[in-house]
Amino acid sequence: MNKLIKKMPQKLLEQIPYTKSWSVRQKWLIQPELTNNCNFRCVYCPHSIYRKKVDGSNQFNREKGYMSEELWDIVLRNAAKYASIIMIGFFGEPLLHPKFQSFIRMIPATRPYILHINTNWSLVTKENMETLKCFDLVRISLDTSNASLWERLCPGGPVLDLNGVPSKDRHNMVAEKIEYWLQLKDHSPTRLVCVVSSINEHDVERHVSLWHPKLSPRDHVQTKTILSYGGVMRDSHMSKYPCIIPSSKYLTVAWNGDCTPCNLDVNIAWNVGNLCEETDMKKIVNGKRWKQAISDIKRKQGICMNCLDANNRSEDREYWGVGSVQNNGDACKPLKK
Ligand code: SF4
Repeated sequence: MNKLIKKMPQKLLEQIPYTKSWSVRQKWLIQPELTNNCNFRCVYCPHSIYRKKVDGSNQFNREKGYMSEELWDIVLRNAAKYASIIMIGFFGEPLLHPKFQSFIRMIPATRPYILHINTNWSLVTKENMETLKCFDLVRISLDTSNASLWERLCPGGPVLDLNGVPSKDRHNMVAEKIEYWLQLKDHSPTRLVCVVSSINEHDVERHVSLWHPKLSPRDHVQTKTILSYGGVMRDSHMSKYPCIIPSSKYLTVAWNGDCTPCNLDVNIAWNVGNLCEETDMKKIVNGKRWKQAISDIKRKQGICMNCLDANNRSEDREYWGVGSVQNNGDACKPLKK
């Protein structure tokens, strides 16, 4: 266990950004992208159609790379001053970053913000689980409990076993490692994220029922409607929703320092400045480019023309482990039919 990083006090976990609280935060949610490389090609994710032409949609074609240590240091200095939440992930698998563990060790013990991470869990081993225990919320993608359906949903690279050896049994290895993690007494609060699309909609109820009994009171399964990621993806589950970005305090920092106010802007199309150059994010969020971008977003210009669903979380649901204080004892809400 990394002794440099302590967990946030439990009461701060109440600030984990569920839909209603996001627009009232006083400080910033910073979303740093350690890398936009991913070892999976999930069919609901723009990585599955990278640089491919899809009629009428925006195209994901941004250059791929890894965040430098210099930029990560700048991100952390800004986080200390301005952030209430740091959400590591954005648009790649963060554990692919060669310096993932040392980057996390750079986070100061006295951090005044909540720390989240998104991962597909493929590269998690017993060793780096120790680093994951430093997070206030670990969000793991797992969209089905059916191995063959999962292979259709999430094709891609190998999944490591607990000792770091690649396994051919990809789905079962991910599931086995999640179970191992959930049984650790000191595991971080965990969200199993199930993206609901036309491909797995029939399986969601079974999936939640299977995982729910394995959760501790600090864990939950979240069912989450597929998103278009700024008009890149399409699915019959998507529906029109007003964009929350103009009233939110989000800053997404891409691996090369380019910043956008939109948490779904996979191409950094709303590029409002570069954090390597500006070093202080206040120069970006108070700058002319930021104001212009927010004005254009409000008028549905640029990529927003194709992004009807925006951040539509109206159908997202959370199924907490039995005994959770989060749901007042009502451990599992009924699934929507
Ligand atoms: S509509 Fe909102 S969520 Fe969609 S691309 Fe524009 S700013 Fe991002």
